[in-house]
Amino acid sequence: MDKTYKGSCFCGAVQLTVNGAPAGMGYCHCESCRKWSAGPVNAFTLWPPEAVKVTKGADQIGTYKKTETSHRKWCKTCGGHLMTDHPGMGLVDVYAATIPDFPFAAGIHVHYGETKLRITDGLPKMKDLPKEMGGSGIGVPD
Ligand SMILES: [Zn+2]
Ligand SMILES: [Zn+2]
Repeated sequence: MDKTYKGSCFCGAVQLTVNGAPAGMGYCHCESCRKWSAGPVNAFTLWPPEAVKVTKGADQIGTYKKTETSHRKWCKTCGGHLMTDHPGMGLVDVYAATIPDFPFAAGIHVHYGETKLRITDGLPKMKDLPKEMGGSGIGVPD
C-alpha cells in the first residue's frame, strides 16, 4: 500500500513521486479540464497532499488559479501539465499521464453532463460530482 511511483513533466525538469493509494481515480469531462489541457477528457488520480512530493524542479512549477477550487500546475520549461491542487477537497489531482508507471484504474466518470467524448465503458457516470465531493450525486447514462 505504501508503494512509491515516479512521475515527471514532458521534459523531465520537474520530477515527483506519489506514495500509497489514491483517494479516487477516474475521468473528468468538464469544460475547464478540456480548455486547459486541450484534450477531450482528463484522467485524474486524487491524493492527500502529503502523498505527493516534488523531488526535482520545484522552482520550475507554475501555478494558475482561475478559481480558488483548482490551482493548476505545469512545468515552466516545457509547458507540460503536472497536477491540480483542490484545496477545498483537501486533495491533489496528479494527472494519470504524469505518473505513467502507476497502475491507473478508473472508477468513475465525473462532469459527464459536459462530455464531448462519450466513453461507453460501463463505469458509473456523474452529471457533475459525487455528493461526497460536493456535487449533486446525479448519475447519467453512458
Ligand atoms: Zn518540463
Ligand atoms: Zn475537470
